[in-house]
Amino acid sequence: MIYIDIQHIGKPHNPDDMGASKGDDVFDTEAYWTSVYAFHMEMHLRNMGYPVMRLCDGRYSDRHERVNRYEAAYPSSTPSVYLSCHINAGAGSYGAMFYDHRSSLGPDLARCIAGEFDLPGISAVKTIQAMPGDWTRNAYNTIKDVRRPVSICLEPFFIDNPAHQRYMDVDKIYLVGEAIANGIHSWYIKQGE
Ligand SMILES: [Zn+2]
Repeated sequence: MIYIDIQHIGKPHNPDDMGASKGDDVFDTEAYWTSVYAFHMEMHLRNMGYPVMRLCDGRYSDRHERVNRYEAAYPSSTPSVYLSCHINAGAGSYGAMFYDHRSSLGPDLARCIAGEFDLPGISAVKTIQAMPGDWTRNAYNTIKDVRRPVSICLEPFFIDNPAHQRYMDVDKIYLVGEAIANGIHSWYIKQGE
């Protein structure tokens, strides 16, 4: 199973949250563009035959608990993947794939996703270990309570980098979803070898 969690929306304690923003309306927000790349990612994954489940409400801890419950109820011999979907802020030039520092399979999944990115304007895609005690803790908090699935916090580009804003376009955003889906596919192929 591939769990796609569109974070920032659906927070019962903060229902107006839409994450980072590059402007004044909802069409400039992280939640809007995350939803669109996640949609393309899901459809590419489904087209390649993967089962997908989408989450988009509850506190992060509730969502993680729900994923753990589904995993226990419907166990599978192939590892599941959990994706916490975001767009970065802070005007960086790179993309980032954060994996849980406790995960043995996480680094390779992050590398496979990063390896599928060949998008003009995004200088590099880093794979970064997320931990509770340093600057990566926000990313860590988005995945930390998921147990069995291999979890990645996706930050494919920066919402406030003008060179990245070309992807905040209905004719371009599919490239981001497609790259992530292809990376997950190549990782699954490696798992089966
Ligand atoms: Zn975010």
